[in-house]
Amino acid sequence: MLNLRDLTVKELEEYFVSIGEKPFRAKQVFEWLNRGVDSFDEMSNIPKELRERLSDAEASDDITIGRINILRKQESRTDGTIKYLFQLRESIAVESVFMKYKYGNSICVSSQAGCRMGCAFCASTIGGLTRNLSAGEILMQVIGAERDTGEKISHVVIMGTGEPFDNYDNIVKFITLAHEPKGLGLSMRNITVSTCGLVPKIMEFARDLPQVNLAVSLHAPNDEVRSRIMPVNRTYNVARLISECKRYTEATHRRITFEYALIAGVNDAPSRADELADLLKGMLCHVNLIPLNEVSETGLAGSPKAQVQEFLARLESRGITATVRRELGSDIDAACGQLRLAHKKEN
Ligand code: SF4
Repeated sequence: MLNLRDLTVKELEEYFVSIGEKPFRAKQVFEWLNRGVDSFDEMSNIPKELRERLSDAEASDDITIGRINILRKQESRTDGTIKYLFQLRESIAVESVFMKYKYGNSICVSSQAGCRMGCAFCASTIGGLTRNLSAGEILMQVIGAERDTGEKISHVVIMGTGEPFDNYDNIVKFITLAHEPKGLGLSMRNITVSTCGLVPKIMEFARDLPQVNLAVSLHAPNDEVRSRIMPVNRTYNVARLISECKRYTEATHRRITFEYALIAGVNDAPSRADELADLLKGMLCHVNLIPLNEVSETGLAGSPKAQVQEFLARLESRGITATVRRELGSDIDAACGQLRLAHKKEN
């Protein structure tokens, strides 16, 4: 079945031509789709006859308008953060988080239903990968949150469930769609892709989307610790990953963000901060320290606040720019992947 939200304006033109309609309908329909309409009937500048034709095509499963429904929603009373559990076709549930910042509204979207990367601290990988999300399904998370909040989203982080580089083509297409001026018109520089370190995709990404930000989930400064908590490290070790990141910055001149979730007793010793500083010395980068949200199923806990501060101070004293991620939505504090996991257990 063809999901119209997966299509660029050009591809929509081809679709309309293929069904004997005028190509200019594509732009009109594309605009409506990006405004978040849920039925062809709402497309008021499209002739009634064509709207009926499209509805009939949907009824016979030839096409879909690509609906997204809110299954669950948790809203912070303190900072406006909203955690969504969205439902896509085939009853697939995905999580997205809407956040308010001084510079605008941001959303963290999922790129896959589940994940096969197996990181030890992550709820999203419990149960493995169900399937990749299409470009339109990723886009719909942004549109769904805009529709629900009535607010414009200016920044997108692809850091929810899934490994974006494991679904590379759909990620590239999603970014192309989100950047389209007739659509959401998002600036490439306001989009961040976060990878756990699929090394072969890093330079491809540098070539395809040089203006999009790259974040790398590092979480450990050496192979011994990293391989224990991130199986991907057994294929692409720290040395290979860092060397590819250096090539990336040489090619794009863009600063990489290294994500480092502090896990009590695993990767949070002051000596690890020293190792990390040595590893990243001289690189165009920023370290984002993340106080880990507890996931009961993983048996891992976040580091105490004092430990986080010490880790930060140690990095800074060695010339590494770092910040501790602001804890948004702490009153709804379910960790990433938890809503989906809870939903799966109940169904
Ligand atoms: S942290 Fe990211 S890459 Fe690792 S298992 Fe979770 S979703 Fe997958």
